[in-house]
Amino acid sequence: MIIGAHVPTSGGLQTALKVGREIEAEALQIFPSAPLQWKIRGWSDEACAEFLSTWPSEFKQVVFHGIYLTNLAGASADNVVKTKTALIETLTLAPKIGVVGTVFHPGTYNGGIESNAEQIRDVIKTVLDNTPKESKLIYENSAGSTIGGKLEDLVWLLENSSDRSRVGVCLDTCHAFAAGYDISSEDGYHNYIAEVERLIGLENVFCWHLNDSKFGLGAKRDRHENIGHGELGKAAFGFLLNDRRWKSAAGYLEVPGLKDTGPDLENVTILKSLRTG
Ligand SMILES: [Zn+2]
Ligand SMILES: [Zn+2]
Repeated sequence: MIIGAHVPTSGGLQTALKVGREIEAEALQIFPSAPLQWKIRGWSDEACAEFLSTWPSEFKQVVFHGIYLTNLAGASADNVVKTKTALIETLTLAPKIGVVGTVFHPGTYNGGIESNAEQIRDVIKTVLDNTPKESKLIYENSAGSTIGGKLEDLVWLLENSSDRSRVGVCLDTCHAFAAGYDISSEDGYHNYIAEVERLIGLENVFCWHLNDSKFGLGAKRDRHENIGHGELGKAAFGFLLNDRRWKSAAGYLEVPGLKDTGPDLENVTILKSLRTG
């Protein structure tokens, strides 16, 4: 597996490259904009072109993590419109900097997926219909209290997407563990991947998020911890990083870092030491 990290873009795209180099990441995940604001700011065409001319020679992949406010099952008409707009703007911006996948949190259950089925299908279709074909929408699993806690939720989203070739999933290790999937042991890890293969299909896993978990198995708490410092433990990352099936896939750190500055050289180095192949 390729070892990536979420890096900041404060000050612009060049910051992402600088931090990525400093922490020796092999792939980068960035926000298209401040994650708690609806407006997608993006960058100037010049800045995008410069970034696109630089990163492919140093990193294997760059992905977007969408803003946190979007919600496919949003309860108000206003929220639904803003969700569509933010996702359309993000997926339109992505190809300008060579980003193929935009990972995002599908949203709250708001009474269940089925009771919002029509709306969810409509939001996904509107987003895909109004964005470049090469831009993919990637559904992230959740820690259990929002859409994506169960693998079946992700299956539903894939099956209800108007263009299956433009969607995929991102699996976060902390979220899977918090949602009750015990990937801390070797047997548990293999059972989980067997379920992913049976329900989702390995080819539909676009990328991973590599985070330890501050809380225990099934706690349904989304709190990331540094690798080896949490309840999930180091071993799980060894199973994942050395599984040949993920050889060309990237996993992105979204950990607090030892100094609370986000993914750092220490966490990247631990993952590299666990990767034996
Ligand atoms: Zn994540
Ligand atoms: Zn999380």
